[in-house]
Amino acid sequence: MDKSKSNGSNHASTAIGGSSKRAQTKGAHKGEMQSSQLMKLFEEELKDIYWAEKALTKAIPKMIKNATSGDLVEALENHLGETEEQVKRVEQVFELTGKKAVAKKCEAMEGLIKEAEEIMEECEEGAMCDAGIISAGQKVEHYEIASYGTLRQFAETLGLTEAAALLEETLNEEKGADEKLTEVALSAVNVQASEEEEETKTKRSSK
Ligand code: FE
Ligand code: ZN
Ligand code: FE
Ligand code: FE
Repeated sequence: MDKSKSNGSNHASTAIGGSSKRAQTKGAHKGEMQSSQLMKLFEEELKDIYWAEKALTKAIPKMIKNATSGDLVEALENHLGETEEQVKRVEQVFELTGKKAVAKKCEAMEGLIKEAEEIMEECEEGAMCDAGIISAGQKVEHYEIASYGTLRQFAETLGLTEAAALLEETLNEEKGADEKLTEVALSAVNVQASEEEEETKTKRSSK
């Protein structure tokens, strides 16, 4: 069954290539073309995330300014420090691939940052604003996780082992930042819940 299938496909490629020698040459060219196209895509994605990271070094301080919870401020400050290092790491990846570090506007990150700013304009300081900042922040982290997951995979496929390792380092930081934001959200909810419970107890005892 499998054998007849593979025979069939061999036949097809021979038919298209004409002579078997031509088919082989074509096959090699196809491989080179695919790899240079992947390289081009890799470079484009790298320019995109480079712009995004640089934009985030300006956006995160605004989120810090609007945050109330000490845990949230701390999480954002930590990630701001990581983000500044991530910018440099992207520059290293450009260098490793022999390309100039160029930023290309990321429409998606621009939109996510715009949404974060809208949320911060509309909310009043406190728990609700914090919840909005966490939500916006997690959308940013998820975008970055998707981007670095792809970039690392491309680098591996292209045989750029060192670049792949750098991209994985950042990928893990983005995952960590996302988890930290979840943690902060849950602990804030817990604090509110326990405060409400306290209120109920007080009411009961005063009856
Ligand atoms: Fe980042
Ligand atoms: Zn992007
Ligand atoms: Fe983008
Ligand atoms: Fe991040």
